[in-house]
Amino acid sequence: MNKRIYMDHAATTPVKKEVLEEMLPYFTENFGNPSSVHAFGRRAREAMDLARERVANALNASVDEIYFTSGGSESDNWAIKGVALANKEKGNHIITTQIEHHAVLHACQYLEKHGFKVTYLPVDKYGLVTEEQVLNAITEKTILVTIMFANNEIGTIQPIKEIAKVVRDKGIYFHTDAVQALGSVPIDVKDLDIDLLSLSGHKIYGPKGVGVLYIKKGVKIDAVLHGGAQESNRRAGTENVPGIVGMGKAVELACNNLDKRIDRLTRLRDRLIDGIMSKIPHTILNGHRQKRLPGNVNICFEYIEGESLLLSLDLEGIACSSGSACTSGSLEPSHVLLALGLPHEIAHGSLRLTLGDDNTREDVDYVLEKLPIIVNRLREMSPLFAQEKGGMKNV
Ligand SMILES: *Cc1c(COP(=O)(O)O)cnc(C)c1O
Repeated sequence: MNKRIYMDHAATTPVKKEVLEEMLPYFTENFGNPSSVHAFGRRAREAMDLARERVANALNASVDEIYFTSGGSESDNWAIKGVALANKEKGNHIITTQIEHHAVLHACQYLEKHGFKVTYLPVDKYGLVTEEQVLNAITEKTILVTIMFANNEIGTIQPIKEIAKVVRDKGIYFHTDAVQALGSVPIDVKDLDIDLLSLSGHKIYGPKGVGVLYIKKGVKIDAVLHGGAQESNRRAGTENVPGIVGMGKAVELACNNLDKRIDRLTRLRDRLIDGIMSKIPHTILNGHRQKRLPGNVNICFEYIEGESLLLSLDLEGIACSSGSACTSGSLEPSHVLLALGLPHEIAHGSLRLTLGDDNTREDVDYVLEKLPIIVNRLREMSPLFAQEKGGMKNV
């Protein structure tokens, strides 16, 4: 048994060869500090400038609206805390949803300890929020609305343009965590009228430990990291030059041939979903059937634990996840699945398979061959399942 299939691209992705190749010289011969005025420094600065230009072009932003960070978590924290602190004379109310990434939820909870009020909007059974919900939650005191573009667990894509419009019409700042969306959904910050947007390198075949915060010109935001004058005096710390170079290339690649990637992944995804649903009874697809990320499959299998499913699949060389990577290791079911209204025992049996550029149809078919056998075996061992079957026989 040496087949190895990676279907956990929402957790992280491998660095693409083209990305790594561009990064490598910035660890060694081009090691300069971009703040230095000599040739070494200038070379690093030029590489950063190019990366910034690539990100700006991909988002339809300008270069002075692109800020490099240490990843998606920092970008989310900066957007939320930075806007909250810079605008606290205007108000202390923030609106978000119950299904955000923990980088958003925990930043909001932290602000609640410091006098801010946060509304966590519920979602429908598909994980969707509506612009009416947002509009109804807005008060005189609202200074920021932060709603994720696409969910990392269930893949649901929000109506971001419609939501941004009602928020912007009220003169309130709108932030979106687009970490999972970039490379899977077209993103044009001008067309969508977004004020702040977070990205992460390692979810788009770039390196870990680097991200981007897009900040529209004129947005009032405080620094969160204080020190040197890097990133136009808004984010201190000597820049992660190789990481930034990799981020620039990764964003460029993610937005090239977007239609082709969406089309290919959607087909693989639908083959996987349809295969699982037709081969395995007592399954529930989580998230929306169409308004979902092209590579996302999230399914609950009744009567079994996601964790045991995960381990059995791993033994067959299939890598995926149950709930989110951040919550695995804890026994609490995912806050996202609970927000959909699933009961605890069903939320426990969830499996997330996220497809990426390296997956093939053969990979999907391999999963479709192994998964029903594993689910069957686990169900045979499940007292709940035996009870149910016994009960049915008696009917
Ligand atoms: C992974 C992820 C993050 C965090 O990004 P890091 O670069 O790992 O800090 C934030 N939001 C979403 C939706 C994610 O999937």
